[in-house]
Amino acid sequence: MPESAANIARNEKLRQRLQFYEDLGLAPFYRDRSSSSSQSVQPHWPASLSDSASQIMKESPLPKSAPMTPATTSRSVAPLGSSGPLLFDAANKLSTETLLQIRDDLGECTRCKLHGTRHTIVFGDGNPKAQLIFVGEGPGADEDAQGLPFVGRAGKLLTQMIEAMGLNRRDVYICNVVKCRPPGNRQPEPDEVAACSPFLFRQLDSIKPKVIVCLGATAFQTLLQTNRSISHYRGQWLDYRGFKMLPTYHPAYLLRNPAAKADVWKDLQKVMAELGLEVKKKAK
Ligand code: SF4
Repeated sequence: MPESAANIARNEKLRQRLQFYEDLGLAPFYRDRSSSSSQSVQPHWPASLSDSASQIMKESPLPKSAPMTPATTSRSVAPLGSSGPLLFDAANKLSTETLLQIRDDLGECTRCKLHGTRHTIVFGDGNPKAQLIFVGEGPGADEDAQGLPFVGRAGKLLTQMIEAMGLNRRDVYICNVVKCRPPGNRQPEPDEVAACSPFLFRQLDSIKPKVIVCLGATAFQTLLQTNRSISHYRGQWLDYRGFKMLPTYHPAYLLRNPAAKADVWKDLQKVMAELGLEVKKKAK
């Protein structure tokens, strides 16, 4: 009997997921989950949201009465220039704005030249009370067409990463520095980042996450107000106005450089530990 289309699609999805774990060097985990020979840190199998993950995402965000002081917060970062303080001033730590109010304020935005080539504003997607936010650079063609962040090839990889953490996309919040697609997927220009990033800051202040993961250099440089390379800071805890922030590689970079997936997985394990998610370590 010929295989049904649903079965073929399911098998393909499973194949892609297994390939993702292969790329992370986690093949022994799903070949033999009871084996104690591996020293690698293993993800929770992401077939469904784990109890611990579900619980932590239901909890209210922690109060932010005192700034966090991770070990790396004393790092100095180069300022972007005169526009830097203005960008910071645009955000309000005590914000009680809702995401809906911020989206209403954005409206059919024409604040920068990206409005002329976009099809859809991609504001953000996910849990408005998420404890974990992923911030990318800007929408691509698929996102521009669908109005949702990270739905193309890089988005599928991000979804796999989220599921490998034992979470679901609906548990986290995902957005970008700029809300409109830069033509040809070029990097957003400084004036575009300056025009759009205050809405990102307001989104972060509204959600008040426990952890912000910056996907790629643009997100990292925008939040940290620096022009330094992400490679110096990738995988390190930094402070963004009292929020714990960790930069890692963008999924699009991982598509071009699969070997870097293992580094990203190490970074995500730090995030999992910070959020109290299950990080399984094999016995020595
Ligand atoms: S990128 Fe941001 S600031 Fe520029 S037009 Fe789009 S929504 Fe407005």
